Amino acid sequence: MRNGKYDSLDAEVSNMHCAFCNRDDISYIFKETPNFLLAADHAPLVEGHLLIIPKQHYTCYGDVPAAMDDELLTLKHEVQQFFTRFYAPAVFWEHGIFRQTVFHAHLHCFPWGATGYDFSEGLHNAVIDSQEGVRKWYLSQGHYFYMEDRSAALLFAPETERYLGIVKSVFWRGITSSGGRVEWRSPQQRFEEGVPLIRAVLEKWQVFQQGTKQGRARKRATMRF
Ligand SMILES: [Zn+2]
Ligand SMILES: [Zn+2]
Repeated sequence: MRNGKYDSLDAEVSNMHCAFCNRDDISYIFKETPNFLLAADHAPLVEGHLLIIPKQHYTCYGDVPAAMDDELLTLKHEVQQFFTRFYAPAVFWEHGIFRQTVFHAHLHCFPWGATGYDFSEGLHNAVIDSQEGVRKWYLSQGHYFYMEDRSAALLFAPETERYLGIVKSVFWRGITSSGGRVEWRSPQQRFEEGVPLIRAVLEKWQVFQQGTKQGRARKRATMRF
């Protein structure tokens, strides 16, 4: 119950068991902004697997209001800088509601450089250039899944064939290129094997944060002269 006891009962029932509404359930929070958390996926596929989670309960990013776009973009940009410095540029991924395991919007961030997606495969349904595109799709078509790298942001209709096509071409490539393992592992196994990966990315994040703080201090110092 985050917004007082007059929340609608529906919202309360659906949020009660939501892992992302209960902050205590999110073990590694890297950063907090007014409306978002940047956290480690607790069962990471590779080192650097992070999540951007709105603090309020939204079912997917198609449901997140436009007023939060700038804040989201700034946070994505920061992840992009972090990944580019320590790993490779970011691939952002959202299931939408399709194949979600936690029913609260979250954007996966993977340090894979590029998706390597082949447009001629025609698995995507739309190329978009802003969050507005995600909202429009969600409003008119409903569920989706979403993938973005530095060259394009794509929306896909929630169909198993498209999904598996992307998992095979993009995920397998990304996981192997970051030294991960592509054989199927249970979430429990990924969780147990994930602890050293999370520690490693957290250490790099601290170095990164230190760097940005020093950068800001340097800027302030030079501005004084
Ligand atoms: Zn929630
Ligand atoms: Zn997910």
